[in-house]
Amino acid sequence: MGRRIGYAVLAIVLSACSSSPSSNDDGPDKVPSTQEENDLNRAITGTVTRYDYAVDLATGAVRDRLTVRADPPGGDCFSASCEVPATDAEWQGAPAASSSQSDGALLVCGRSRVLPWQTLRVSSRSVVPEEKFLGLDVGFSRKKDLAGGTFTYLLSWVGGCSHFGPCDADPSRLASFHFDVEHAPGDMVLCPGKIVQGEQRTRCELSPWSTGSLAPTYSAVAVASDPLWKRTPWMKAAGVDFVFYEVPNLPGGNIAPVLDKGSVTGFFEWITDLLGPFPYGDELRVAAAPTVWSGFEHPANIILSEKLPTRTGPFTNTVMHVLMHEIVHQWAGDRATLAAVGDFVWKESTAEYLAYVFEDEHRDAAEGPATRAYWDRISLNAKFHPRPLENPTPPVQTFYGDVYGPGPMVLYLQLEALVGRAAVVRGIQFFLARPAARSVEDLRRALERAAHVDLGKYFDAWVFGSGKPEWPVFTVATSQSGSDVTVTVTQTAAKVHPCVVEVEVASASGKVLVPVTFGLDASSNTATAHATLQGEVTGTVVDPNHRVIDAKPASFTNEGTEEVLIF
Ligand SMILES: [Zn+2]
Repeated sequence: MGRRIGYAVLAIVLSACSSSPSSNDDGPDKVPSTQEENDLNRAITGTVTRYDYAVDLATGAVRDRLTVRADPPGGDCFSASCEVPATDAEWQGAPAASSSQSDGALLVCGRSRVLPWQTLRVSSRSVVPEEKFLGLDVGFSRKKDLAGGTFTYLLSWVGGCSHFGPCDADPSRLASFHFDVEHAPGDMVLCPGKIVQGEQRTRCELSPWSTGSLAPTYSAVAVASDPLWKRTPWMKAAGVDFVFYEVPNLPGGNIAPVLDKGSVTGFFEWITDLLGPFPYGDELRVAAAPTVWSGFEHPANIILSEKLPTRTGPFTNTVMHVLMHEIVHQWAGDRATLAAVGDFVWKESTAEYLAYVFEDEHRDAAEGPATRAYWDRISLNAKFHPRPLENPTPPVQTFYGDVYGPGPMVLYLQLEALVGRAAVVRGIQFFLARPAARSVEDLRRALERAAHVDLGKYFDAWVFGSGKPEWPVFTVATSQSGSDVTVTVTQTAAKVHPCVVEVEVASASGKVLVPVTFGLDASSNTATAHATLQGEVTGTVVDPNHRVIDAKPASFTNEGTEEVLIF
């Protein structure tokens, strides 16, 4: 049942469920009864349009209410993913006829039938234990910040909303969210969307009429608090107020002081020109906290690691890079979401690539090249293809760290040499134009539409596949007739990879950079180009500017050793 329920998992069951035992005490691991199996086998899907969470941060008590639009033919039972024991189930505001839990799902049956397209409201209570999952911050946790304050975090992530009550854990779903958070007097609390901060109760609303856009559960089911945070308005850009939540005088330094307001303003105006108005209202909050990841993109709340100011790499300006990346996620990940877990790569790649384009065009000349070099290096770590095709898709925690280098390289940067940056950026605009669930296939089509080319062979070679990707090895040969140098590149891999490979050719009199193109057809594993260079060729360097992933010949390989920053 768990596999069947795993993601889509909203079921309104046809049969009357009044005969189901009321079994709130059975816990999440009970084996389903035949009656429950029958109910779930006949389940139909509905859509959760809204979540209402009442959270007590002191105790972990959560009341979770789902508003569901019922698909035909309606019914009087409902099932959703739920990993915590749930009690006090209600159906349309009245006590449920029955409820039971088994194998990660809550089944609730009501005393009234819900007709097609009617609205069902189903709720339950749970006490969420302080527990973290996957060795990450996923779950409900308290952790000391660098100043000794207690940071409290309720974090869902991809497929993880069921840690806090019943929900549709499918990452492709977009919904409205309302939070009512009870907390200690005066504590600063962040929850998604528009915030009304109170002395002991803080409310948040994320809906089309409050903030403008919906959001997925992976980022929107989130509450964060630190009693030492001070709320500091920082600046306004493109009609949006930037507000920082930081512990003043944090050991190691604060984030806001190391950012340049002019540069952040320039980036925000640039990205809103590119992708449209900020999707979540008129306030963007940036908080510093003791998190495992370097950053996370909750809608209207960006949480950055408090240790970022002390990092020296891997980017030239890591704080600015991570902030830009998380801002891009507000459109790429939050407003538009993943069609499936396996599509994770486009979310990170788009955030990385657009941060890079801004670096390359608007910031210090060293920043763009450093970002490219880092992506190129960590691409050699990847154990999975950018869009893994294993069936079933591997758990997200096994492959998500592999996307940060190869993703922006293969989805965007390498295409610049084949179709031009303008077409790549236009493709991203097409891809993100609608708030919807998007796949890597959708991205391929958007890029093809923007560039007027067929990218089928390119994506088959670089993007889709099972197991560890086999990146090509490029070897170079030169021949000379006076100042005319012929550069021949041969690539070695099972597939021929469409790409352009830059080769730096040197002689005693100078250097020349020679682009050698295999084209999008890549009909041969050998390609040549000509260059003019005085003097005898003394050496060549493949891809000196890190514009294509190239594996190293086995004799001097040093693959897979660099730490990958996750954010
Ligand atoms: Zn990211």
